[in-house]
Amino acid sequence: MQEKLQQIKEKALDQIKQADVLDQLNDIRVAFLGKKGELTGILKGMKDVAPEDRPKVGQWVNDTRSAIESVLEERKGALAAAMREVKLKSEVIDVTLPAQKNSVGHRHPNTIALEEVERIFVGMGYEVVEGPEVEYDYYNFEALNIPANHPAKDEQDTFYINDKILLRTQTSPVQVRVMEQGKLPIRMIAPGRVFRSDEVDATHSPSFHQVEGLVIDKNITFADLKGTLAEFAKELFGPETKVKFRPHHFPFTEPSAEVDVTCFKCGGKGCRFCKGSGWIEILGCGMVHPNVLRMSGIDPEEYSGFAFGMGLERIALLKYEIDDMRLLYENDVRFLKQF
Ligand SMILES: [Zn+2]
Repeated sequence: MQEKLQQIKEKALDQIKQADVLDQLNDIRVAFLGKKGELTGILKGMKDVAPEDRPKVGQWVNDTRSAIESVLEERKGALAAAMREVKLKSEVIDVTLPAQKNSVGHRHPNTIALEEVERIFVGMGYEVVEGPEVEYDYYNFEALNIPANHPAKDEQDTFYINDKILLRTQTSPVQVRVMEQGKLPIRMIAPGRVFRSDEVDATHSPSFHQVEGLVIDKNITFADLKGTLAEFAKELFGPETKVKFRPHHFPFTEPSAEVDVTCFKCGGKGCRFCKGSGWIEILGCGMVHPNVLRMSGIDPEEYSGFAFGMGLERIALLKYEIDDMRLLYENDVRFLKQF
């Protein structure tokens, strides 16, 4: 019996010595000391031992058990320490390495152009006002003298949410919302995102940005409009810039005009940039239609005003000589970094 116990002990110690992960130690514990383990098997065989020998045999079994247990614990501690060592080594931080540089964000050319436009008009005493992008048909069309049968209201041009609500096609509804409040005089610009049901190409996008302006006061004339926009063009494109007003039609202004500026590349002589004409179209404008004033509760006999609107992307494209609007939306960092 003693010999058998000695064999079990040697076998166990040998296996413990060879174990190199904690799981293996656990398996060894089960194999020798567990309920169905080898040592437990010996205890079950005690009934065959002569009663007077039982205490002695029991003592041997216990000695063997504690010998195996103590070696198991010792090995377990050693293995855990070794594992901790490996883990620490793999997680080591070299505090002498140079820090990784954060890539700092950058203003988008649209934002730069908008801030430039805002700076110019705020300098002339204008307020910057924003309004909702999802807008009532009333504010987007009707209150701007665009009747129900107007081609601009076609489903092919406008994104409708339902009969009465749409994605605004212009920022002019913000002007109506300000006029309705009845606080006169008004000097404001309304920048913001607008939506048209356009296919994407070099000059079109279903979502783009506008800056519209509105002035309402007593005795405002077309001369005020011309002076204001001439000043704006000089500030934006350089002091030599001249403006030209071409008659045009917009439903919400009368008379209406489109405004060209002298080409800032060739100074008006004609070049590839201005397609030889010397002029570049930048915005639309006009005197606020009496119907529009009346609908917002302003008496056109007492007050008059002018309005203008420009595409912000167009300003950015011109200012930075970018030839494809899509570049502004692709978020290619190599492109954006240039501004
Ligand atoms: Zn030119």
